[in-house]
Amino acid sequence: MAKYLYVERGVMARQVSDAAIERLFPVDKGPPCPEGTALLRSFGEQWPSDFASLKPSDLVDLRNSDFADLREWDAFAEHYSTCELCNA
Ligand SMILES: [Zn+2]
Repeated sequence: MAKYLYVERGVMARQVSDAAIERLFPVDKGPPCPEGTALLRSFGEQWPSDFASLKPSDLVDLRNSDFADLREWDAFAEHYSTCELCNA
């Protein structure tokens, strides 16, 4: 139990900043909707090194991605590719 709590704290310590998310989106397009942002943030917190290697072009062509097998990425990609708010 103590070990589990420790792991939880470790995950919390790797929070993804708004700026880290916004850098991935062109200024004229803006960041995703709150739900999309939350999904992308959870991907970044679960897979920090993969998130760090994300490029803006990965958000354009979601299928051409090295992250396709990662559950958190799939959740974001599915939302982002179908959400009208994210693509308004
Ligand atoms: Zn959305």
